[in-house]
Amino acid sequence: MTSGRDLRDQMNSDAVAEAFGFLLSGKKGYKTVIERRVEPLRCSSCSIVLQDAVKFCPECGTKVVLPVKK
Ligand SMILES: [Zn+2]
Repeated sequence: MTSGRDLRDQMNSDAVAEAFGFLLSGKKGYKTVIERRVEPLRCSSCSIVLQDAVKFCPECGTKVVLPVKK
């Protein structure tokens, strides 16, 4: 079986994103924005970045209020 390369490894690579962006825009170096926005959770009181699973801010002890998902 010589079916070529396994593309699964490349699905998330920047090179693919760039190639895709080139196809869409005709510009080299253009990168498509693929829902990759990961905003860090921050303490509402002291604004430090919190880990995902914490319930209270380790810095100031404020209860962590999770952002409401729409
Ligand atoms: Zn805090």
